[in-house]
Amino acid sequence: MIRPMRPVIVAANWKMNTTPDDAGELARTIAGRTRESGVTRVICPPFVCLSAVRDALAGEDVAVGAQDVHHELAGAYTGDTSAAMLAGLATWTIVGHSERRRDHAETDERIAGKLRRAVEAGLRPILCVGETLDIREAGNAERLVVDQLASALDGADPDVFSAAGLVIAYEPVWAIGTGRNASGADAAAMAEAIRRGLRAIGWGDLADDVPVLYGGSVTAANIGEFLAEPSIDGALVGGASLKPDEMAGIVARAGLTARARAGETLVS
Ligand code: PEP
Repeated sequence: MIRPMRPVIVAANWKMNTTPDDAGELARTIAGRTRESGVTRVICPPFVCLSAVRDALAGEDVAVGAQDVHHELAGAYTGDTSAAMLAGLATWTIVGHSERRRDHAETDERIAGKLRRAVEAGLRPILCVGETLDIREAGNAERLVVDQLASALDGADPDVFSAAGLVIAYEPVWAIGTGRNASGADAAAMAEAIRRGLRAIGWGDLADDVPVLYGGSVTAANIGEFLAEPSIDGALVGGASLKPDEMAGIVARAGLTARARAGETLVS
């Protein structure tokens, strides 16, 4: 069977940075400096900057994503944002980022709810998984990540989630915002464990179509190490995504991988 080629994706997570006054200009600058054929680009600004970024990116082939979505459809959840509220503002959303797991006590069960609400609303989810340093040092990283994956996707229909374009971001917690990144080989081993994990919960061959990104102190200088790995399909970029020079370098390198893949056909 001929399987579709996995896309190369660079997603920018701006976290709690930028304001509605300056976000549009930054988005426009990044879009203008990252026009690489074959690379799927996504910018995830804070909620309050979504409309400014959407407007700034009109006519650009850059998707807008949210950084989170609530696990319920509506209700008494002060300060939160539902999937329905994002209609017309975003087409992607990050779910289960480790900063939200840490700062907002997001459990795997909540994250499963968020994923479902996102998919029902037509948002393309980037599910973040990753281990802390003590878990890695204890040799339990793969087990933890595969458990996070299984909990988040518990009961989810693989056909529906695959059609929704589910993306997994492997983000070791110890590498986020620390300047310390995983090795390309370790990230690739985890990407393979993630696809084995998907098979173990009934995804079958659909597991091979799920893009797996690496995230954790990605820069223009180290992106090549990750994209040299066939099992890694791009990056979720935090700090460096606020810097147009860095984004230009990261997406340029992603373009090399996208063009190399376009010359191949995945057959399984
Ligand atoms: C992130 O926020 O998802 C991230 C990977 O951050 P950083 O690139 O800054 O480590």
